[in-house]
Amino acid sequence: MCHKRILCLIILVAGLCLSPIASALPIPCPAGNTSQSGQDHDGATCSPDFNYALGPHGPAHWGGTCNTGKMQAPIDIRNAKKASLPPLAFAYEPASLNILNDCNHYTVKINYSGSSSITFGNRTYKLKQFHFHEPSEEAIDGNRASMVVHLVHEADDKSVAVVAALVQPGEENKLITTLLANLPPKGEKREFPYIKIDPTSLLPADRSFYMFAGSLTTPKCDEGVTWFVLKKSIYFSQAQIDAYKKQYSGTARPLQPLNGRTIEESK
Ligand SMILES: [Zn+2]
Repeated sequence: MCHKRILCLIILVAGLCLSPIASALPIPCPAGNTSQSGQDHDGATCSPDFNYALGPHGPAHWGGTCNTGKMQAPIDIRNAKKASLPPLAFAYEPASLNILNDCNHYTVKINYSGSSSITFGNRTYKLKQFHFHEPSEEAIDGNRASMVVHLVHEADDKSVAVVAALVQPGEENKLITTLLANLPPKGEKREFPYIKIDPTSLLPADRSFYMFAGSLTTPKCDEGVTWFVLKKSIYFSQAQIDAYKKQYSGTARPLQPLNGRTIEESK
């Protein structure tokens, strides 16, 4: 009798797990091998609260300052003013690979905790992360590139500077090969202490740039971001671009009005 009760309980639980009610519940992604936070949407589950499509979660309905701010990004870069700007000095160093397949932000993100930085004038910004968009978000004279790498930096006073490296099809990029070979499933992150990456390989040799004041390009689109869009492109192979597109594509926010902002261009 006792055995039969246990058997009935097992059958009941198994039946519930296989029922449509159970399958309709949110299913968390399998845990990765590193800690995950569910609070900041940093890879705990794939449940994005915005998207790039027409509809209630599309760009026209993004929250924060996305649809009220007057200094939003991306923009179409044209009629830039040549200016005597200080150089953008890069001090990037190799660091261990820490990669997140960030389905909540439709991108592959590489977190950076090393001492890599950029200096512009008397302000130094530390590299925090870099990620990708397909196609590029920013346009030059109306033309978008195949992809863009956004290298996101933060100064001690929390001001943010993003360097954008536009990507065109061409030679294979070895760093991208490493990233694609170690890409976790969507929603998961991985740390590889013995795999060193150097973000310098995401920069063109010529570091001349366009500069303007803008915002983050995903909700909540916070303003006060200094943008440096490198004039010279970098190259990924078409196969690498295609491999990335299998993960995420169409992840460029619509171009935003300039609203009287000046775009400066290094000489
Ligand atoms: Zn971005």
